[in-house]
Amino acid sequence: MKSAVLFAHIQLVTPLPDGPVLSLANAFVAVAEGEILYAGPYEDAARQRLVERVGSQYETYAGQRKILWPAMANAHGHIPMTLMRNQADDANLHTWLFDLIFPREKHLTPEHVKNGTALGMAEMIRAGTGTAADMYYYSEAVVEAAIEAGMRLNVCFDGKTEGPDGKTHVQTGEVERFIQLCRFAGDGRIVPALLVHSIYLYEPYMYRELAQMAADQQCFVQVHIGETAREVSECLAAYGQRPAVQLAEFGFFQTPTVAAHCVHLDDQERSILAGPGILVAHCPTSNLKLGSGIANIKALLEAGAKVGLGTDGAASNNNLSLYQEMKLASLLAKGTSGDASILPADELIRMATLTAQQGLGFASSGCIAAGYAADLQILDADRPSLWPLGEPNAALVYSSEGSAVESLMVDGQWLMYKHELKTLDEEKIKHEALRSAVHLNRLA
Ligand SMILES: [Zn+2]
Repeated sequence: MKSAVLFAHIQLVTPLPDGPVLSLANAFVAVAEGEILYAGPYEDAARQRLVERVGSQYETYAGQRKILWPAMANAHGHIPMTLMRNQADDANLHTWLFDLIFPREKHLTPEHVKNGTALGMAEMIRAGTGTAADMYYYSEAVVEAAIEAGMRLNVCFDGKTEGPDGKTHVQTGEVERFIQLCRFAGDGRIVPALLVHSIYLYEPYMYRELAQMAADQQCFVQVHIGETAREVSECLAAYGQRPAVQLAEFGFFQTPTVAAHCVHLDDQERSILAGPGILVAHCPTSNLKLGSGIANIKALLEAGAKVGLGTDGAASNNNLSLYQEMKLASLLAKGTSGDASILPADELIRMATLTAQQGLGFASSGCIAAGYAADLQILDADRPSLWPLGEPNAALVYSSEGSAVESLMVDGQWLMYKHELKTLDEEKIKHEALRSAVHLNRLA
């Protein structure tokens, strides 16, 4: 159900498409029918827009000591991996993936995936995230969980099965069926993508098939690029080119693409990734935890790339909080450059909201202004860790945490209202996810 609400006397923070990040105290924001009708300093104007749209049938949300800002978008993750949280730690990426993760994933069922996704979505909603990217298996189960949760989702589909020649191929019919499912079932909240895991997982002919499929279907691609130094050296040995260059040569980057990690890049790769329709998903916690390195976000931004933030999966983070990623991304950029003015709070706010939403295919999300979708969160600033508030933009990045989020709205629908999840049964989800996790981790 889409709610009609007047947020009154609230601290508003929002990036603007062609301007700075706006911070407005004592603001009024009116939403109805999934749309932001008004955001600004005037109560009368806000009420008038609501009356024109829904008469007197709207709620007033008292905004004193609260911050209203856009719902965040998690630009990269493997949501069902919540089932492997705290089960595969303190190992380098290659060992982690091949020795700890793949043996568990061998036993996955759609039921596991649905339960792990629902858990991840409950966690993300509680931490102010309304949109996620997902790269995993049994994508129909992920879509089902997203529709139940009410979140927006940019979701990968594998679509690779063995053909009559005994080799794996990407199946046109399967891909088309999944794209149709996303477009019709999700009420505009689900964007389909093609799964291209990385440059190191398939044979060369598969990359050509995948690039052709993305072009034919004009669909998104999600891919890991330059996550580790080993990936780069193996790619150089196999192809004589670095990963992003080789992917471009195979025909990728002609359709919208989410490029995850991008830790190990050279200038040529950065200029490729600055191309139109490409979103770089910076995952600082996961890159540190797997010992992969630190992405040079300053250089990517200077090259003109659009950069969002991702948590990656809970098996390598080990949570799904973008508040943590915002702060860490800023601190890493400052610490590695020796320049504290790099990646200021406003930049992180923009990366976590507007840039990521648009890069994931949700052009009307990520900004609190008339005409945008009603995707927003309310943060309770009336707590010791946010007191005194000072500059609200700095407070969001440097002293907030996910638990301070009290409400989250996506497309005008409350997913959490004053700390209570409205679309998901949290106790049931925890119980079912635990059952799936115990089963999966015992088999590994
Ligand atoms: Zn990943």
